Amino acid sequence: MSLLDTKNITPRSLSFFTALAISVINAVLSLLVQPKWYTSVLVFFVTFIIIYSIYYYTLQRFIYRKIKLIYKFIYQTKASKKEEIFYQHILPQKSIEQVSEDVAKWALRRKMEIEKLQDNEKFRKEFLMNLAHELRTPIFSVQGYVDTLLNGALEDENVNRKFLSNANRSIDRLVRLVDDLDEISKLESGKIPIIQQSFVIQELISDVYEEFLLKAKEREIHMLFKKGTERPILVYADEQKIKQVLVNLIENALKYGNDGGTITAGCYVVDDKSIYIEISDDGPGMSETHLPRIFERFYRADRSRARAIGGTGLGLAIVKHIVEAHGHTVNVRSKPGVGSSFGFSLDKGEG
Ligand code: ADP
Repeated sequence: MSLLDTKNITPRSLSFFTALAISVINAVLSLLVQPKWYTSVLVFFVTFIIIYSIYYYTLQRFIYRKIKLIYKFIYQTKASKKEEIFYQHILPQKSIEQVSEDVAKWALRRKMEIEKLQDNEKFRKEFLMNLAHELRTPIFSVQGYVDTLLNGALEDENVNRKFLSNANRSIDRLVRLVDDLDEISKLESGKIPIIQQSFVIQELISDVYEEFLLKAKEREIHMLFKKGTERPILVYADEQKIKQVLVNLIENALKYGNDGGTITAGCYVVDDKSIYIEISDDGPGMSETHLPRIFERFYRADRSRARAIGGTGLGLAIVKHIVEAHGHTVNVRSKPGVGSSFGFSLDKGEG
């Protein structure tokens, strides 16, 4: 770095070089007027001290005080002890160039914060709109049946039980929706801690398969392990939450899968740190356009079918939350007419 690097001039160096230049000129002039070296030396030092002091004081007072104010505004805090040290010792060393870099960085940070807030606001609005829509359908349905029953259908033996059971189904749907909302908001608030332990993932999958056995039998759907992946593998995760992930994925595979189809669970050792688990079905699949948004709350690939089946639209969002809370990711592969595979990774367990 050269002595007079214009990019990195500080008030001190600027004062120094200005004072030096004027002092040299004065000393030379005094030598011409009175050719005595000690007078020149005296003139040099006196001029230097005076010019340096005036220049430095002016710069500090009129420029650096303003800059200090800018910094205080940027940090928006009452100066702490650490900051006082910054203002007294570090700031005066900063060049104007560095100050403008700091301000530019601050402006960029602010811009990003604002963009994030705007995104959150958009997200919040969309969520409220979707929620109102999701609530409206079952509530209107219950209201319709209750009205009809009150207006005479209650006495009609042919329809009264049917209408009541339809209303009951809508109430069940509302309860599922509220349960899922509760689950997702707890996960988002980070209130439920992740309690990790080592366990065999295949055993957990078998438990979930067993819970759905009756439903699967009704539709002649087979639930299997992929050949070659039956050997017990330990994962290190929150067993209850991973059970929830498996329940949601296997339930979806059953809900959307074809009668007589197959659900396959595969467990793979990726490396000495992670395990990959995949739940696949040979159901209707989804077109590629849906895949990037499928984990969003209330997003549905096939709206009418999903509604008819009675899903809340939150199952995959919960899956994503849980897997990400474990520091891992979830992904989907799907092809219309071929089937879907949902996979996620977990830490390898020890034991
Ligand atoms: P839902 O309660 O509607 O099932 P999810 O969040 O669990 O909500 O799933 C979101 C959407 O993803 C579903 O509505 C459905 O369109 C699609 N989907 C999920 N799993 C499958 C699957 N195994 N096969 C086909 N489509 C699926």
